[in-house]
Parts: sequence; structure tokens; C-alpha cells
Amino acid sequence: MCPGGIIAPASTAPGEVVVNGWSPSKRNNPFANSGMVVSVEQEDMKAFAAHGPLAAMEFQSAVERACFDAGGGRLVAPAQRMVDFCEGKFSKSINSTSYLPGVKSSDLKDVLPTSILKPLQKGLIEFGKKMKGYYSNEAMLVATESRTSSPVRIPRDKETCMHPQIKGLFPCAEGAGYAGGIISAAMDGERCAEASVRYLENL
Ligand SMILES: Cc1cc2nc3c(=O)[nH]c(=O)nc-3n(C[C@H](O)[C@H](O)[C@H](O)COP(=O)(O)OP(=O)(O)OC[C@H]3O[C@@H](n4cnc5c(N)ncnc54)[C@H](O)[C@@H]3O)c2cc1C
Repeated sequence: MCPGGIIAPASTAPGEVVVNGWSPSKRNNPFANSGMVVSVEQEDMKAFAAHGPLAAMEFQSAVERACFDAGGGRLVAPAQRMVDFCEGKFSKSINSTSYLPGVKSSDLKDVLPTSILKPLQKGLIEFGKKMKGYYSNEAMLVATESRTSSPVRIPRDKETCMHPQIKGLFPCAEGAGYAGGIISAAMDGERCAEASVRYLENL
């Protein structure tokens, strides 16, 4: 959750829309934003099986391209009001957001795979039951933060944290597929640093 935060463009290639969120230290922006994470399982990627170990990358890329197309270009992101999203209604009007390239009212069911759409709808309704005022059409959903963790994993031994073929290489944290987010990346970094010290001591 980023109080006083900003939704920022985070695409890395033409033809895709990816967003992320952050807060300036003064937390003085009129908006707040938070990313909602949905687990993606191997079986959700059946349609991309032909891409082998890169199936998850292609799955992610397909969602990012769908967001770009729905926004209509220039990094405009598709967006929908929260209650409309959960009830499957098109938002006739939308609120302004902190996302500077702009947002376009879109039916996010045409952008997100069902395996992401359904748990997101269910989760938002559940949050609303626990936090007064959370479930509201004032809240805008902006699609999509698709890079919370790496879609590929570099192999490593469970005990030594070392690559099975390359001695002295410790695939670590988010880019290597062992973390998603600040805390899990920091914890994995600590684990790998300790493992590499043990390796060096035993040389
Ligand atoms: C805008 C934004 C907002 C985010 N908000 C949150 C949040 O609210 N909460 C949360 O939990 N996570 C958030 N994240 C994710 C979080 O930043 C990452 O999960 C975390 O930084 C991953 O840590 P890491 O050490 O695996 O990788 P990184 O922090 O990316 O570190 C990798 C380092 O490797 C360096 N590097 C790359 N290539 C080379 C090379 N060839 N040689 C030498 N060095 C190299 C890079 O310069 C970098 O310093 C956010 C990310 C972004 C971009």
C-alpha cells in the first residue's frame, strides 16, 4: 500500500502496458494505491505450453499486450471502478488517477485471464467485508502490475543455493525467480550471502 502514492508506467518494450506503484517520502499526493497479487499456477498457462520453460513469460506478455490494446496506445492503461469490476459492469464514467499517461474505461474481463479475474473479484469483495469503506466505486482498478515476481527461475541446489552446473554462481532473489517484493528478496539475499561465505570458507 502506497499512501499519498503514484501509479507509474513500468513497461520495458513497445506495445505493452505495465504499471507499478510507489510513494514519495512526503506521502503528499492526493491518491493512495496498492497492488493486489493473485497466484498464477502452472495449469493457468496451458495455452502457452508450446513455449516450454518460457511459457510464463509469454503468458505475462499476452496480458501486458492486452492492456496496451485496451488502453488504445501511448501507455494509456485500461481501468474500471471497483464495484463495477466485481459486478461485471462497464464503468460509464471513471475517476482521475495518479497514473500520468492516463486511463481509459475498459471492461477488465476482456484484459485479464479468468484465472486472475475471478480470485481478484472474490478477494476485493472479502476485503470490503473486513475494512469499512474499502469496497467502493470511488476506487479505480488500473491494469496491470504484472511483474511482481519473475516468470522464469534459474535452477539452484536447495542446500548450497548454488547453480547445479556453474560452481560459485548463486542465483538470487527476484530476477532469478526466488523472491517477489522487497522483504522476500532481502531474505533470499541474506540466505545466498551466507551460503556463498560457507562455499568460500570450504574452498
Ligand atoms: C516502482 C516499484 C515499486 C515497488 N514497490 C514495491 C513495494 O511496495 N513492495 C514490495 O515488496 N516490492 C516493491 N517493488 C519490488 C521490489 O523493488 C523488488 O522486489 C526488489 O527490489 C527485488 O530485489 P532484488 O534484490 O531481487 O533486485 P533489485 O533490487 O532489482 O537488484 C538487482 C541489482 O542488480 C543490479 N544489476 C543488474 N544487472 C547487473 C549486472 N550485469 N552487473 C551488476 N549489477 C547488475 C541492478 O542495478 C540492481 O541494483 C517495487 C518495484 C518497483 C520498480
